[in-house]
Amino acid sequence: MSEGATDLVPQLPNLSIDDAASWVAQHLGHLVGDSGAVAIPARRGGQRAADAALAALDVTGYAKRRSQVHPLQRRAATVLSPYIRHGLLTLAEASAAVAGAPAADRRKFIDELWWQEYTRHLYARVGTRNTAPLRRRPATAAGQWPDAIRNDMSCVQSVSDELEQTGWLVNQTRMWLASHWSVRAGHDWRVGEEWMFRHLLDGSRAANRYGWQWSVGAMTSEAYGFSRWQVERRAPAWCASCPLASECPIQDWPTASPGERIDDALLRAGPDLAGPDEAEITAAPEQVWLTAESLGDRDPALMAWPTSPAVFVFDEPLLDRLRLSAKRLVFIAETLADLAERRPLRIVLGDPVVELHGVALASTFAPVPGYQRRTALLNVVATHPYSWMRRPSGGDVRSHSAWIR
Ligand SMILES: Cc1cc2nc3c(=O)[nH]c(=O)nc-3n(C[C@H](O)[C@H](O)[C@H](O)COP(=O)(O)OP(=O)(O)OC[C@H]3O[C@@H](n4cnc5c(N)ncnc54)[C@H](O)[C@@H]3O)c2cc1C
Repeated sequence: MSEGATDLVPQLPNLSIDDAASWVAQHLGHLVGDSGAVAIPARRGGQRAADAALAALDVTGYAKRRSQVHPLQRRAATVLSPYIRHGLLTLAEASAAVAGAPAADRRKFIDELWWQEYTRHLYARVGTRNTAPLRRRPATAAGQWPDAIRNDMSCVQSVSDELEQTGWLVNQTRMWLASHWSVRAGHDWRVGEEWMFRHLLDGSRAANRYGWQWSVGAMTSEAYGFSRWQVERRAPAWCASCPLASECPIQDWPTASPGERIDDALLRAGPDLAGPDEAEITAAPEQVWLTAESLGDRDPALMAWPTSPAVFVFDEPLLDRLRLSAKRLVFIAETLADLAERRPLRIVLGDPVVELHGVALASTFAPVPGYQRRTALLNVVATHPYSWMRRPSGGDVRSHSAWIR
């Protein structure tokens, strides 16, 4: 470990939510982007929590009520996304868990899992380039999220509050916020995307960027319009009690143009960051390096090297840039605490490239540019395949429908 880096593991096991929040405040407080208040996170971290959520999964009614927003009891979204995002549950496991569900609900749920896979494929193709070539909607207004769009509207207030307090939103309200921010108010979608990413427990560049790009009409011919109509349909009580009910600022559809055409040659065909299709092993590893993409007990590298200790590095330079909400870090801390009860685990604060320098590592491939950059500077002697539902093969990713064919 480098001078100045912190080894954090001894304090972790058996954390309560309050302990986890104070642990994060104590060790990572200088890196968080909010006050650190963790009111009611949508999900607790950890493999045990993930497995319990999967065991309790019941998607009956999902096809009809997946987009329901309010009241909470009417919602059918599963809130599995934080576990899926961090590799505690694979898409294949989620798919297998609904085998006995009513056919229409099972089909719709599995369709959504394929949407997640699609966003991963798209990101594996364009990586960091996808803020530039896919941007079709120029900003016409400047402002800081969320203040620039917060007013007395119950819908926008409720959704922003839910995101900030729980770190999760149903798909429908993510689209509302994205559209309201960029399509109606004309702000730069990347500012909104960044703000949402910081708060989401499931925040991933792949799915979040795609969700925003879809909402503003990049890659499709139309932007998504958000108006009172959706709120009346999905959360009618919010309109009924809204102080602006009689002068609703979103009574009508926003005017939206699709923006400039993009050069989509790269999306038609190109190389993908897919990783190996079977384990590539050149030597026995000393440690198993866990990344935020794969923090579960069933991480392929952890499973392949059951006696090697694991290591996780809270990437200080990255976190300093990202300024994530404390909720997200609490979720990760809980996950690590849970794992540390079953597996020797070292947790470090610092730069992974420095902290892991010279250590013979096993790790599971992550289809994100940051993994590629870091592993180029590390001694990874065993790389294990990423858990794709279907391995990318360089084909058409211009749209979900072109891709799924
Ligand atoms: C603007 C915007 C931003 C988004 N940001 C993210 C993000 O950062 N991380 C993220 O995982 N998803 C993101 N999504 C996709 C989707 O909203 C979430 O995956 C979903 O709401 C998670 O809740 P859930 O687990 O209850 O989903 P469920 O409806 O129960 O679906 C089950 C699983 O299917 C996948 N899924 C469902 N809908 C979608 C979708 N539209 N796109 C991709 N995968 C989907 C997720 O893995 C989800 O956990 C975003 C969507 C939009 C419109």
